[in-house]
Amino acid sequence: MVTKTDLLEEYRQKRDFKRTPEPKPGKQAAKPEEPIFVIHKHDASKLHYDFRIEVEGVLKSWVIPRGPSMNPRVKRLAIPVEDHPLEYAGFEGMIPEGEYGAGSVMVWDAGTYRNLKVYHDHEQPVSEGARVGDINIWLNGRKLKGGFALVHIKSRTPGEAWLLVKMRDSEASDDEPVMRHARSVLTGRTLSEIREGKK
Ligand code: MN
Repeated sequence: MVTKTDLLEEYRQKRDFKRTPEPKPGKQAAKPEEPIFVIHKHDASKLHYDFRIEVEGVLKSWVIPRGPSMNPRVKRLAIPVEDHPLEYAGFEGMIPEGEYGAGSVMVWDAGTYRNLKVYHDHEQPVSEGARVGDINIWLNGRKLKGGFALVHIKSRTPGEAWLLVKMRDSEASDDEPVMRHARSVLTGRTLSEIREGKK
């Protein structure tokens, strides 16, 4: 039996909570019935997006270098990283110089999701999808809506590789939301305003 503490061991090990303002895993606040997702825009050594979905009490996380696309023909590389605590969904701010992931972090999108791997007689839970590398979810975000597939692929390069692809549904389009949306859904700030410490 894997406990939540075990799932977050790598998260804890990478961080010095005396120095980083990132949340230390602890007691969880009340949250909506439906599982949550969050997308952070993170200007670390390289600008990227972090895609996080609530699975079994933690945020399963992937780095998406180019961010999500609404175009079903566009495949976006997604590299799995360590699980984050649920509290991380509300984190926005600056990770200090010298700390893991140093740089500005924005809550670029947030909301709830539902599992699309539901058939009339059975369901493949998202937790199983995360293990086998095949997740289909409907995002109900402020910016992103619609079905997204997150699938593990065989890669020649070392390390795990997944793809994030928009599913073909009523919300699909040729829109590139990362080009249009530059502000936090939490505070309305841009990354540079976060960096400058604007309230
Ligand atoms: Mn990141």
